Amino acid sequence: MEQVDIAVIGAGPAGSSAAAWAARGGASVALFEKAAQGRDKSCGDGLTPRAIEECRRLGLDVERFHRIDGLRVQAGSKVREVLWPDGAFPPVGAVAPRAEFDAMVMQAAIDSGADFRENAPAEPWIEDNRVLGVISKGEKVRAQLTVIASGAGSPAARAVGATRIASSPFGLAIRGYIPSTRADDRYMEACLTVNGPDGSIVPGYGWVFPAGNGIVNIGVGALSTMKNFSDLNLNTMLDAYTAQVRESWGLGEFVARPKAWRLPMHVEHRGGPGWVVAGDAAGLVNPFNGEGIDYALESGRHAAECFLTEPGTAWAAYQAVLRKEYDPFFATARRFAWLIGRPKLLQFLLGIALSTNFTMKLVLDIMANLVDMEHPGLAGRSLTIGGKALSLADPLLVRSSAKSKAKAKATTPVG
Ligand SMILES: Cc1cc2nc3c(=O)[nH]c(=O)nc-3n(C[C@H](O)[C@H](O)[C@H](O)COP(=O)(O)OP(=O)(O)OC[C@H]3O[C@@H](n4cnc5c(N)ncnc54)[C@H](O)[C@@H]3O)c2cc1C
Repeated sequence: MEQVDIAVIGAGPAGSSAAAWAARGGASVALFEKAAQGRDKSCGDGLTPRAIEECRRLGLDVERFHRIDGLRVQAGSKVREVLWPDGAFPPVGAVAPRAEFDAMVMQAAIDSGADFRENAPAEPWIEDNRVLGVISKGEKVRAQLTVIASGAGSPAARAVGATRIASSPFGLAIRGYIPSTRADDRYMEACLTVNGPDGSIVPGYGWVFPAGNGIVNIGVGALSTMKNFSDLNLNTMLDAYTAQVRESWGLGEFVARPKAWRLPMHVEHRGGPGWVVAGDAAGLVNPFNGEGIDYALESGRHAAECFLTEPGTAWAAYQAVLRKEYDPFFATARRFAWLIGRPKLLQFLLGIALSTNFTMKLVLDIMANLVDMEHPGLAGRSLTIGGKALSLADPLLVRSSAKSKAKAKATTPVG
């Protein structure tokens, strides 16, 4: 029977990063991908400074993608543009179409020495309550550690019990590509007041991320905590948002049918004997802004590093890293997601956030997780104090979360 040090299920950013780092560290790695190199993934394609830093660490040539200098936020008639902060991370962003970006990350894994198997769906090989490796196309491959990086809501992660916490917030989003006269714009644009067909504001947010080459990525998304989430129709919402920005962005027609998918934001069971989950499979999408590429790349690296340090206990060490590095921030962001589910409170907070460039910058630092916690400054202190205040309000939020649980069910067909 074939035997490797690490088997990885899924070659998105999380799995390819894990495979690349593990292979570079000298481990034998088999990387299983059910699709082919160059597959697309429904995504906004936005890389914030945090993602850029991790891409550079991995040695990816992200400079080849359309560069982004900052964020433009729109809410009603208010618009603010802020540059990326120049602090803990490089003040650079990018819009990297996922078909191309993911092919690049997969290539990094291959070039690092991972044995990449495309068109090869795999499932964890479970025996006696531990994962012994993977089963792909009827063949068993034994591995000391199996990294399950198979994305949002995947059966491979479910098989080991790594499932989304049902009462926690999650997101749904849809995106498409459209030719635009402003595809070279250097700001990602986010709109927090998307108007429905009747002119009323619908829950959720819209974005236009310019990708260069004449194309923009346009999409809309919503958090399960938002009012009327259960009535959400992403296609209608995307049409409404596209109409809203058609003139200002000089938009043409969609080049292909827009695609929707889920954004999981809370998984607690993230490792066990012989296995760990990374990226979306581990629920690592930032509830503040729907970003997951950076956390996918980072968690893949952590999984590899834990294995290279001590293979036998990597699954436990990895969970400790996630608990320390990510859980406090994600817990605060999830609590915040419950707060902004209340439209009046959201309007109030938006008013404050957009009131000056200073407040907008502060909010961007916090929400995109760009705070340097070694030198926290005002953003870091606000995050810590806000986190504590929100945790005190936990009983209230949990109660409202229980009430909303029935609502937190996607009624929009996804995929
Ligand atoms: C509409 C939308 C917009 C978004 N916008 C942004 C954004 O602008 N910026 C950002 O940072 N994040 C964004 N995200 C989140 C981001 O797309 C994800 O967080 C990211 O793709 C997670 O990477 P991953 O490697 O964990 O999973 P994925 O990218 O989903 O990769 C999982 C891989 O596993 C493979 N796979 C699945 N099952 C198996 C199996 N059984 N065997 C073998 N292979 C398997 C899949 O084919 C896939 O290649 C967005 C998400 C959505 C839905």
